[in-house]
Amino acid sequence: MPPLPPELIEKFRAIVGAKYAVTDPADIEPYVTEERNLFHGRSPLVLRPATTAEVSAICKLASEYKIALVPQGGNTGLVGGQTPHNGEVVVSLRRLDKIREVDTASNTMTCEAGVVLQIAQQKAAEVDRLFPLSLGAEGSCTIGGNLSTNAGGTAALAYGVAREMALGLEVVLADGRVLNALSKLKKDNTGYNLHNLFIGAEGTLGIITAATLKLFPKPRAIETAFVGLKSPAEALKLLTIAQGEASTALTSFELLAEMAVDFSIRHGIDVRDPLQEKHPWYVLMELSSPRDDARATLESILTRAMEEEIVDDAVIAANLTQRSGFWKLRDEMSAAQKPEGGSIKHDISVPVAAVPAFIAEADAAVVKLIPGARPVPFGHLGDGNLHYNVSQPVGVNTADFLARWHDVNAVVFEIVLRMGGSISAEHGIGVLKRDELPEVKDKTAIELMRQVKAMLDPLQIMNPGKVL
Ligand code: FAD
Ligand code: ZN
Repeated sequence: MPPLPPELIEKFRAIVGAKYAVTDPADIEPYVTEERNLFHGRSPLVLRPATTAEVSAICKLASEYKIALVPQGGNTGLVGGQTPHNGEVVVSLRRLDKIREVDTASNTMTCEAGVVLQIAQQKAAEVDRLFPLSLGAEGSCTIGGNLSTNAGGTAALAYGVAREMALGLEVVLADGRVLNALSKLKKDNTGYNLHNLFIGAEGTLGIITAATLKLFPKPRAIETAFVGLKSPAEALKLLTIAQGEASTALTSFELLAEMAVDFSIRHGIDVRDPLQEKHPWYVLMELSSPRDDARATLESILTRAMEEEIVDDAVIAANLTQRSGFWKLRDEMSAAQKPEGGSIKHDISVPVAAVPAFIAEADAAVVKLIPGARPVPFGHLGDGNLHYNVSQPVGVNTADFLARWHDVNAVVFEIVLRMGGSISAEHGIGVLKRDELPEVKDKTAIELMRQVKAMLDPLQIMNPGKVL
């Protein structure tokens, strides 16, 4: 990108106000770096609009001067989508942080894009409702970012992914037009479902400024168990029993490898092993029920699984502190890999039934490629979605190990694709997987994606170089 002429910076400044047009490199820094240090971008200008009208004026001006924009929410994305890699202007949506309406009779909540996920959850709880989207970054990620990445998280098993929680959107298009599709309707068959195009688009088609979200009844009882077992195959049997007995009350079912749990205990702050002895695999499962029957159902599931020798040991959280202890162990898992050196990440999904075979094949292939490499699989077994991360062998050079990133991806993705899976289950494509996408996706689908992009963003100013 050529440098921005000062008079254009002035015009942008006039839209958002001097205070919210950031040009000082030190103040820009937090917008061009991200937590994992995988990506470092650069930008001459960060704009922090507060209203849809300001976002619209920014897009109109950017179109007029063909200036590329990178929308950004909480900057917690894991694929480099929110980073200005080539000196683009960052549009931070964080100041669009109003909850416009809560409608308990319709069970909807209309949030602006910059509302932090945890705030949306709290707001729903205040009116005795549940907004179920839940993920490790919920204290800083935003509704706009969640929808733009179509985030999954730990409750997708029962409530679906972000897409399924949005009834409607308000979107500013690349040319500044505003698409008002803030519908509260579950039933509305009046042509193409346009708002869905922008969900999971990672900011490449337009800027989401608000969303009407679904609310659910707040569970009366939540019961959580930490379970030790021998293998992913046993975990799958437990999942089948749990779904049979609890049905949609089974809200989380996380599979954790022994090494993932070890890392979390070793490096996490205040993380303890809930079980007396070590096990090769663990499951963190949770039931949420509108009645008081969750405890009895969970006990019944575990009793049966123990009788059938599927589960070796299990503990049910006795109180809220213990429950948050179980979740802390799970939530620290990503961060706990850092002190173990380089980690090559995958966010894959395969059909649920194929998870045990996937893990066995991927472990063998990765260790054959890099002897001593340490697979650390964990994730959402109930969704067939694993964070199949691979830590470096002990004692090797981290940079040398990370230089094999694409080689490791290639062997893992080959297995994923053979099993009918996806190379990006919930984190998106961004720049991290952009070059692989055309290799793995249906040719016609890629063609249509390019045509949709060309139609909505003919000047290629909306997050260029991401996804496609
Ligand atoms: P950003 O990171 O700012 O942006 C992400 C993408 O969306 C970028 O492409 C950006 O351009 C675009 N974007 C942002 N806002 C808008 C907008 N208003 N309009 C248009 N485009 C926009 N993801 C999961 O799915 N499941 C998990 O369990 C999970 N756990 C995580 C745990 C941790 C500790 C971290 C750091 C991340 C995790 N993530 C997870 C990644 C997840 O994608 C993000 O945390 C979150 O959904 C992104 O929201 P954000 O507001 O931070 O978006
Ligand atoms: Zn996840």
